[in-house]
Amino acid sequence: MNKSTLESKSPHQVTIRREIRVEGVGLHSGKSASLTLKPALPNTGILFVRKDLAQPVAIPASFEFVTQTVLATTLGRGEAQISTVEHLLCAFRLMGVDNALVEVDGPEVPIMDGSAGPFCDAIQAAGFFDQSVPKKVAVLKKRIEVRKGDKIALIEPSDSLSIHACIEWNHPSIRKQELTFTVGLSDHREISRARTFGFLKDVSALQAKGLIQGGSYDNAIVLDESRVVNPGGLRYADEFVRHKVLDAIGDFALAPIPIVGNVTLHKAGHELHAELVHSIFSSTDNYEVKTLDEIRDPVDASLAAVSALFRGFRPLQGSF
Ligand SMILES: [Zn+2]
Repeated sequence: MNKSTLESKSPHQVTIRREIRVEGVGLHSGKSASLTLKPALPNTGILFVRKDLAQPVAIPASFEFVTQTVLATTLGRGEAQISTVEHLLCAFRLMGVDNALVEVDGPEVPIMDGSAGPFCDAIQAAGFFDQSVPKKVAVLKKRIEVRKGDKIALIEPSDSLSIHACIEWNHPSIRKQELTFTVGLSDHREISRARTFGFLKDVSALQAKGLIQGGSYDNAIVLDESRVVNPGGLRYADEFVRHKVLDAIGDFALAPIPIVGNVTLHKAGHELHAELVHSIFSSTDNYEVKTLDEIRDPVDASLAAVSALFRGFRPLQGSF
């Protein structure tokens, strides 16, 4: 039952070791956008801070602050918004970072290349700091399912976060694609570089609404009626379903504490992912909060502690 998930390599919460700046273009505004990722205290989670406003506003990366799930996930608090958070949140989860401040200078997280790859690289460059505070996760007590038409998202009890996604699109470059990915056990590069995608026929309508002004072949896979039109083609033969898994991990990172469980997604998107997180946390009958030590055996724990040392973590040092 126990797996060597990245989360279980250290039983403690992890933040980044040093501050790092990330720059790019906002997908919707088309304007340059930058982020500064900073270390944060234990139990902070991921906290966005709009630094460009007269009064900086902190917006926790939590489902209670989701204001919109069309095209991308947007968080808001009062007038302050921050959109397209899911790829960055996925990167934090893939890299095993629990706590960080994300200072932003505008309403959008830069789209980068449309994947989580550049964020994973930035987090890796910033390094990791073991905070010597037990990491807690939400363990499911029962199966929870949400549906909308033929779209399904469900989660079943397990001790790691595993996503099985299936998409079906009536397009020659997509058709039916399926993938299973386990956070920590699967190599993050299996999904981290998978880009978001869109259809050429939708571009002008979206641009007329003032959206995707920054969209280009550099930050999305673009499809016409029959094929992928990007000059470089695809990064993975089934890049579309890989991006769906990436989005789902980012959306589940909006849980108040990390969820573990076996997730099955059929044609689901941001909206259904958000609904599943809502359903799970709507009642404490659905889950229990456990430390990683409580859900794994002692042999695994000591092996994990050794491998954590070799990965450059600093276990057993003073908390950040
Ligand atoms: Zn996405």
